[in-house]
Amino acid sequence: MSKEVLDEALAISRELKEQLKYYREMGIGDIGGSVLATESAPAAYLKSPPSQGASAGALVDAQVSWAASLERPGAQGPSGEIQAVLFGDIAAANQQPGLRSRASPLTIESRNESLEAIREDLGDCQRCKLHEHRRTIVFGEGNPRAKLFFVGEGPGAEEDATGRPFVGRAGQLLDKIIAAIGLKREDVYIANIVKCRPPGNRTPERDEVETCEPFLFRQTACIKPLVIVALGSPAFQCLLRTREPITRARGQWRDLNGIRVMPTFHPAFLLRSPDKKREVWEDMKKVRDYLNSK
Ligand code: URA
Repeated sequence: MSKEVLDEALAISRELKEQLKYYREMGIGDIGGSVLATESAPAAYLKSPPSQGASAGALVDAQVSWAASLERPGAQGPSGEIQAVLFGDIAAANQQPGLRSRASPLTIESRNESLEAIREDLGDCQRCKLHEHRRTIVFGEGNPRAKLFFVGEGPGAEEDATGRPFVGRAGQLLDKIIAAIGLKREDVYIANIVKCRPPGNRTPERDEVETCEPFLFRQTACIKPLVIVALGSPAFQCLLRTREPITRARGQWRDLNGIRVMPTFHPAFLLRSPDKKREVWEDMKKVRDYLNSK
């Protein structure tokens, strides 16, 4: 075996150890379905590496085969049942301050626009007071055809500095949560309800959410995910137009125009209350199993 292949195999083994550690931290004993299948490939490789031709990279591919199985041509959305979603006309809402931009998603049609067009429309946004303190707009990132869309609250300090969502400590935990269901960050899409950092990481205020949420809904209409995971109360309440607390809703499927929404705890909350990881894992297994069934 060449040194290169051996190094790669060792790197895979280290990654697996990390992953298993995370499962243990989450109190997980029952790793079902595809995650178990994806684990076994590198382990088998270490016992009996391919003699020639095959690279360790192929095993990384095997590890993410579940993710690959989620690929779908055309990104048509869940069996064509998603009604195109676009929640409000930003320009009109801005021109008429009295007119709230929270029209029902059921009544508004998609513009069939690209994520790039939405980003361009956002521009150097100064529509709400959050722009005064932000360094960088954090639009969102990931696979534009993602089946799974994670929605958080708003950028924190690291996100504000880098322009990327969920890259701080909470983001590292989110990466582990994504890996725990057999996916990689590049497979999913990640965004927030507000695109600029609230000062001191406070919860975004109502006027800020109302100003910014049309961009989130336009992103949703564009990506047409099968599942949205709403991370924490503000994301859940914004998406579902509800005041129901996350503590009551978590773990229960909700519907947003044919898109399944799974409310769960925010990773920042898990950093403060690690005992809640178990519940998030239960919620994520539902997400994994649903995506696997599609
Ligand atoms: N918390 C969020 O809700 N979003 C981020 O992007 C980072 C932390």
